[in-house]
Amino acid sequence: AQLANQIAAGEVVERPASVVKELVENSLDAGADQILIEIERGGSKKILIRDNGSGIPEAELALALSRHATSKISSLDDLEQIVSLGFRGEALASISSVSRLTLTSKPASQDKAWQAYAEGRDMQVQIKPAAHPDGSSIEVLDLFFNTPARRKFLRSDKTEFAHIDELVKRLALSRFDVSWTLSHNGQTVRQLKKADSREAQQKRVAALCGKNFLEQAAFVEVAYDDLKLWGWLLQPSACKEQLQCQYSYVNGRMMKDKLLNHAIRQAYGSMLSAEQQPAFVLYLDINPRQVDVNVHPAKHEVRFHQARLVHDFVASALTNALLQLEP
Ligand code: ADP
Ligand code: MG
Repeated sequence: AQLANQIAAGEVVERPASVVKELVENSLDAGADQILIEIERGGSKKILIRDNGSGIPEAELALALSRHATSKISSLDDLEQIVSLGFRGEALASISSVSRLTLTSKPASQDKAWQAYAEGRDMQVQIKPAAHPDGSSIEVLDLFFNTPARRKFLRSDKTEFAHIDELVKRLALSRFDVSWTLSHNGQTVRQLKKADSREAQQKRVAALCGKNFLEQAAFVEVAYDDLKLWGWLLQPSACKEQLQCQYSYVNGRMMKDKLLNHAIRQAYGSMLSAEQQPAFVLYLDINPRQVDVNVHPAKHEVRFHQARLVHDFVASALTNALLQLEP
C-alpha cells in the first residue's frame, strides 16, 4: 500500500505548496472559516494546518488516511456537479506516505479529540486520544524524508515559501469569508480577518495586491442572465511590472483560463503596449451547468459551454469599466 501511495504522491505532492493546497482545500470542504497555516523551513520541516471545520469522527480517522477514502462522492450525479474542491480521496494517504503526518480532529458532536498517524512500512494507522478544539489539525513533518530523489528537487526555503505565500494569496482572494493566518519560522507573514463588507474586501485586496493596485483600479460589477462578473481592474496607465496582480476566479475557483485572459486583454485593447501586463482581481460566477471545471484540475482551465457568449460578456463589461475610468 505504501508504494501505491507514494506513486500517487508523485501526482498530488510536487512540493510543499501542493501539500498546503490539498490540506487547505480539505479545510474549506469541511466548512472551516478560520484557517491557520504554520510553515517551517519552507515547508520541508513542517507544515501545519489548523481549521475550525466539521472535524473527522473518531471512527473515520483511520479511513481518512487510507487511499480512495473520500467522503465526498456518493453517487454519479455528484460527480457531475462537484461543488467541493477535492474529490479524489487520495491526498491524505499520498502525503502521509512521503512525510510524518499526524491528523488530530474533533467534531463538535464528540467530547474528545483523537489523533491518527500512519506508521511503519505497511502504514498501519494508530489512533490515540488527544487535546484539540472543534476542527482539525494536520501536521506534516519532514516532507519527502523517505523519497530522497524528491527531496533533492526542493528549492531553497525562501523559494518554497514564496510558492506557499502565493497560493495563500490566491486562496485568500477566493474566500473573503474565511480568516487566514500564515506564518513562517514562527513569524506571522499574513493575518487576514474575515471580510464581510465590500470595504473589508477592499482592505484585503490592498493587503494582498498593494495599496497602489486598489487605488488605481476600477471596481466592476455586472450581471447578465446567469452570468455575473465583479472585481477590480487596474487602469491601463498604472499597468507596470511592480503591480503584477493577476487573479481570476470562476465560481470561486482560481483559473488561468485562455478565454478569460483573452477577454481581459481585449478590453484593454491598444491602451496597453505589448510589454505592459494587465492587473486584475476578477470573479466570474456562472451557472455550474454551463461550465466543465474538471477538464484539467491542475491546469486551471475550464470549458464554457457558451464560450463566445462568456468571452464577449467579460470583454464588454471590462471595456465599459475602463471607459468610465479614463474617458
Ligand atoms: P478528498 O478530499 O479527495 O476526499 P483527502 O485524502 O484529501 O480526500 O481526504 C480524505 C477525507 O478525510 C476527506 O474526504 C474528509 O472526509 C476527511 N478530511 C480530510 N481533511 C479534513 C479536514 N480538515 N476536516 C474534515 N475532514 C477532513
Ligand atoms: Mg482533499
